[in-house]
Amino acid sequence: MQDTKKFFENLSGAGKSIGVLTSGGDAQGMNAAVRAVVRMGIYVGAKVYFIHEGYQGMVDGGDNIKEASWESVSSMLQVGGTVIGSARCKDFRTHEGRLRAALNLVQRGITNLCVIGGDGSLTGANLFREEWSGLLDELVQSGQISEEAAQTHSALHIVGMVGSIDNDFCGTDMTIADWVLIPEMPPKDGWEEQMCHKLSENRADKKRLNIIIVAEGAIDQNNKPITTELIKDLVVRCLGFDTRVTILGHVQRGGTPSAFDRILASRMGVEAVLALLEASPGTPACVVSLCGNQAVRLPLMECVQMTQEVQKAMDEKRFEEAVKLRGRSFENNLNTYKLLSHRKIDAELPRSSFNVAVLNVGAPAAGMNAAVRSAVRVGITEGHTLFAVNDGFEGFSKGQIKEIKWGDVGGWTGQGGSLLGTKRTLPAKHIDKIAEQMRIHNINALLVIGGFEAYLGLLELQAARSKHAELCVPMVMVPATVSNNIPGSDLSIGADTALNAITDTCDRIKQSASGTKRRVFIIETMGGYCGYLATVGGLAAGADAAYIYEEPFDIRDLQSNVEHLTEKMKTSIQRGLVLRNENCSENYTTDFIYQLYSEEGKGVFDCRKNVLGHMQQGGAPSPFDRNFGTKIAAKAMQWISKKLKEFYRTGKEKLDVVWDCVKSELIFVRQKIHRIPKEQWWLRLRPLMKILAKYKTSYDVSDSGQLEHIVRLRAKDISAI
Ligand code: ADP
Repeated sequence: MQDTKKFFENLSGAGKSIGVLTSGGDAQGMNAAVRAVVRMGIYVGAKVYFIHEGYQGMVDGGDNIKEASWESVSSMLQVGGTVIGSARCKDFRTHEGRLRAALNLVQRGITNLCVIGGDGSLTGANLFREEWSGLLDELVQSGQISEEAAQTHSALHIVGMVGSIDNDFCGTDMTIADWVLIPEMPPKDGWEEQMCHKLSENRADKKRLNIIIVAEGAIDQNNKPITTELIKDLVVRCLGFDTRVTILGHVQRGGTPSAFDRILASRMGVEAVLALLEASPGTPACVVSLCGNQAVRLPLMECVQMTQEVQKAMDEKRFEEAVKLRGRSFENNLNTYKLLSHRKIDAELPRSSFNVAVLNVGAPAAGMNAAVRSAVRVGITEGHTLFAVNDGFEGFSKGQIKEIKWGDVGGWTGQGGSLLGTKRTLPAKHIDKIAEQMRIHNINALLVIGGFEAYLGLLELQAARSKHAELCVPMVMVPATVSNNIPGSDLSIGADTALNAITDTCDRIKQSASGTKRRVFIIETMGGYCGYLATVGGLAAGADAAYIYEEPFDIRDLQSNVEHLTEKMKTSIQRGLVLRNENCSENYTTDFIYQLYSEEGKGVFDCRKNVLGHMQQGGAPSPFDRNFGTKIAAKAMQWISKKLKEFYRTGKEKLDVVWDCVKSELIFVRQKIHRIPKEQWWLRLRPLMKILAKYKTSYDVSDSGQLEHIVRLRAKDISAI
């Protein structure tokens, strides 16, 4: 619907100046956000200024506020921490400090601010904006700025971006977290004895390593701080164990940002610039964020209030409320963690008399094991008996199925590959045997974790229902494939690990080029016909182009890319990166593109090519995939329980195929051609990649973030990832 689309060509940044700063504790992806703000800002014709050292730089002015250029944010994506510096700033807490900051901004014509930081930084930003006109009045009165300058700069627009680190404790490996102490979940009185008891039991079981995680700010029911020192003393005193304390602090924050962090931050940075361009004097300051896959803008005031309410609830020991206020995603993480980490005594469990089978189908994808672990444990908690099938549908037909218990999946979260064993075989030709196994073991529901074959397999099972009553049971698929090509679902388990592998390799390849050599790398990615990995990997690695099957290209595109690279080599950035999906074109192969670029680039740059193989399936799953696999499989199992109850009550059978992880709904779609879904949300990211690589392109902003309210957002049944 071309006519309803709105393109940002109409949104010009000409004459506007944007200041970007990182403040407070550093978070992963801050540099990617800064890069995106700078490039998007320049792209729309605005001037962008780095404000170094957070609010301190704004207060001190001078060289701390410097105009940014396109090249100045090159090679920044992969760097951890924040390149432009972030300092805590006492001065900004004072009126005097904020007055100086206002003067510095007005002197440079900056009336748009992009603040990347945490709760504290946003609170400061909010206050600054509220005071702005008063500050300008003061500056006029003291003769530091003219009346006219005050009028020209009368409106200050602020957009915030929040670093995500504090909100995601669930990203830690849940298998090793024997005991987690966080501020929102103070342990019950007597926790010290309980902890020691559990640890000594574990030792008796010959478990030699226990990990206790203590979050910054952890407290007991009486608001008394629980510190790592306290835990250490307790363990040594009661049990005499050797105990080591590691403060994660900067380990947690540092290092190379993951592909996910970079993409999220890049999207938010672009969104922040759009929000600034669209702001009018009456628009409230906002925070850009993502809800599911949709960019949203939240009023900064509400975010600040929400944070204050969380703190207040904590101070008043209303811990359950504090968890709720933290948001749905946090609450879900916490509930899933609680459900999976502590084994229930059998007598406490409900008995459902249902048998549920779990299997992996298709190629291995990192995070599959975390999903199996979670499904098994949630299923057991719901009272079912769980069965594990080895080697997919093929193994199932051969009777490779047996009961799986709570302890059998211990330690599975962090392991790569498929511990159950997985095969690509489809079930149709073994359907009689599979039905027989379903009957023998009295299987009442099926949970299939896998890729496109899993999806096709379920369609085949469904088609066979008229012949086999055994197959008339609830079945659900949890998408797990590096290709991220399951119709109806936005995101598959394993895709993040694959993206990290690609991004990591691209980083290394880029770094391997010696400083003086002008070089272009052509990198082939997997994904079948689905261009997700090439596109999103390209965005995360800062590629110049990504060729995919879904977006046909011809010789003119290749030519314009060569010209683009030639131009780029004239600047201080002397490296190019081009990603190519393995099946993007039958004839424009990786070799062809390599040869074409080598010939055309003669004398300007040389080329290297690299075909990324199965390493993309990843070794150990990324924290995101562990977390994601755990959460979505838990949901799928809960859905099975619900269906089993309904099904046995009404006697009606219904098949829903794919669990859409992002939208939290089940979707049934028939689509087999080329194994790519009709709807591919990530195609909308392609213009972003092009913009950030300095191509002129059209970017559809019709579904870019509208101002939402936190309460309304929370009311939607969305489990933000
Ligand atoms: P974070 O942004 O990560 O939560 P801080 O709480 O340390 O980190 O805040 C970062 C900076 O933001 C502070 O050093 C200070 O300069 C500014 N700031 C925080 N709270 C306020 C406030 N209430 N008023 C003014 N400035 C503030």
